[in-house]
Amino acid sequence: MKNITGEKAQEGTPLIVCRLGELFLKGQNRPFFVDKLGSNIKACLKDVEGVSVFYVHGRFFVRHPTGLGDELLDRLSKVFGLSSVSPVIEVKKDIEAIKRAALALVEQGEVAVGKKTFAVRAHRSDKSFPYPSPEIGRMVGDEVGRAIGLPVDLKNPDLKVEVEVGPKATFVFVKRVKGAGGLPVGVSGRMVLLLSAGIDSPVAGWLMMKRGVYVDALTFHSPPYTDEAALDKVVRLAEKMAKWGVGGVTLRAARFTDVQKLIHRSAPDELGVVLYRRMMMRAACVLARKVGAQAIVTGESLGQVASQTIENMTRVEEVSSLPVLRPLIGFDKAEIIKNAQRLDTYRISIEPHIDSCTLFTPKHPVTRAGKSRIEKAERAIETDCDEEARKLVEEAEFIRIRGYSSDSNIPR
Ligand code: ATP
Ligand code: MG
Repeated sequence: MKNITGEKAQEGTPLIVCRLGELFLKGQNRPFFVDKLGSNIKACLKDVEGVSVFYVHGRFFVRHPTGLGDELLDRLSKVFGLSSVSPVIEVKKDIEAIKRAALALVEQGEVAVGKKTFAVRAHRSDKSFPYPSPEIGRMVGDEVGRAIGLPVDLKNPDLKVEVEVGPKATFVFVKRVKGAGGLPVGVSGRMVLLLSAGIDSPVAGWLMMKRGVYVDALTFHSPPYTDEAALDKVVRLAEKMAKWGVGGVTLRAARFTDVQKLIHRSAPDELGVVLYRRMMMRAACVLARKVGAQAIVTGESLGQVASQTIENMTRVEEVSSLPVLRPLIGFDKAEIIKNAQRLDTYRISIEPHIDSCTLFTPKHPVTRAGKSRIEKAERAIETDCDEEARKLVEEAEFIRIRGYSSDSNIPR
């Protein structure tokens, strides 16, 4: 008999089952979504030797010869599009084999430590198997209960042993790790993220990745006025983002010093921030055209700081030829921080650094920048803003960011 991955059946084969989010299980786009998800899973595991990935009956299976360390589970739990992952033991379709696997699992390591109750949940979709689901649960439960000495609580058990008897294979498992949810990165196209060393923009990019967007990050720094630490922080933030979804993002670091000096010299102080942001936005659009991105993403949240009023955001958006998406627009800071902690960027973001904008930031920035005033100030700068934006992108340093040590399937 062959097992689920087409190999010769071996009792006790360890596998990881990856369940797909329900969102895209229906509809005509399904094969496209599944293909993307499969290639993203492979990309995230590319540097793991001996690993294989299979798609069988609506689920992905990951197999690794040396067993199933937490490292694989951790990586898979960050792949957008998966709802949950479980390390399972595949056994022969035989009640004794199921019992043996269940015992092996509950007696393993710390599985039963600190648990007060347990239950066995069985699901039989192969009706040719001689025992109905409740019967499997009872038979396996008797065995497990004797071994670990715990009472059964069917409603709310501390330890859940699950048995799945399907047409193709039989699995036993005790762990379900929550997946990242969302859609596979790549199914919703590509966008340029304005990424700073702060708390917000990595979260904004991550939320778009969760909706299936491939992110090209663009950051601006102003050496020698900003320190090395600022750029280093951005690189580390991008590395955290790269662990999610596809195993990589790209980062471009543009040197903003000259543009910032130019604006600082020739425009009223209080308009500085809006004028800097307009230049950043123009450059983001240049990069978007270059890489084929369809929108710009920022970490702005309405009213959070003086530059993030609707008037000022409108002034910045006016120079964009593409839609500007702000996934955090209605978020409170506390909600953003919660997300940053899940993304694991919060600790990096709060490290001290000298921000390019701190230095040139006016004491009293304008909160309602009028259109004609801003345009007049921009004309007075006496430079071709579009040309400056093009130069910023052309001369930007390209930094390839890898989530893991592997080369991932980052589009060029
Ligand atoms: P963040 O925590 O993301 O820096 P913030 O609350 O500090 O946000 P601002 O500094 O006003 O807000 O920036 C608003 C948005 O502008 C940022 O979320 C980011 O998308 C973009 N941005 C700001 N500074 C830079 C920079 N140096 N490089 C690239 N993008 C930037
Ligand atoms: Mg900032």
